[in-house]
Amino acid sequence: MAVRDGLTNLYNRRYLEEVWNLLVRQNHSEDVKIAFFMIDIDYFKLFNDNYGHQDGDDVLKRVAHMLRALVRRITDSVFRYGGEEFSILLYGTNEETSLQFAEKIIRGMSELHIPHRKSPYRQLTLSIGYCCEILTNETSPQDIMKCADEALYQAKEGGRNRYRLYGTDGLKPEKSPAN
Ligand code: GH3
Ligand code: MG
Ligand code: MG
Repeated sequence: MAVRDGLTNLYNRRYLEEVWNLLVRQNHSEDVKIAFFMIDIDYFKLFNDNYGHQDGDDVLKRVAHMLRALVRRITDSVFRYGGEEFSILLYGTNEETSLQFAEKIIRGMSELHIPHRKSPYRQLTLSIGYCCEILTNETSPQDIMKCADEALYQAKEGGRNRYRLYGTDGLKPEKSPAN
């Protein structure tokens, strides 16, 4: 049963659900927060077109390695979500720590200094959407992915090479007082 992606050796998307169920089952605390990050490489099609698919594959491996180096605890995990998309699940976090983590990802990427002549940033960057929620039995991994994905869309719209927390910066939280 494959739980890892062949190219990057990260966990695959299918395994994300299993990790999630494991955390939900083991968690008996009422106020543990999780953060879920959706990470997408910017202008990656242009990168492939300009440098070739093999260089593209090498980049995916380097990004995977960089992301894994940021994750230290056994309860935190990194996944290759799909093509040039990655995701990270942090267990037992809060707003401040998850924001610092998003900043670390952006910094980690910029410190790789991978040239990308067709990007306005002249080097490879990524965009991040994330959410930070209390872990409950009712929260499904699909919900959390959808929120992070919406925030990712905002990060792309905002100009890429940035992060967005779900429910902020013009995004409506799911349960706003007005609803
Ligand atoms: P955006 O900034 O909006 O994210 O643009 P983008 O070009 O990164 O996004 P788009 O979805 O248009 O293109 C994703 C590209 O990722 C296209 C595809 O060829 C490339 N890709 C997906 N999987 C792989 C892979 O395993 N290896 C390589 N080399 N490229 C891949
Ligand atoms: Mg993509
Ligand atoms: Mg992309």
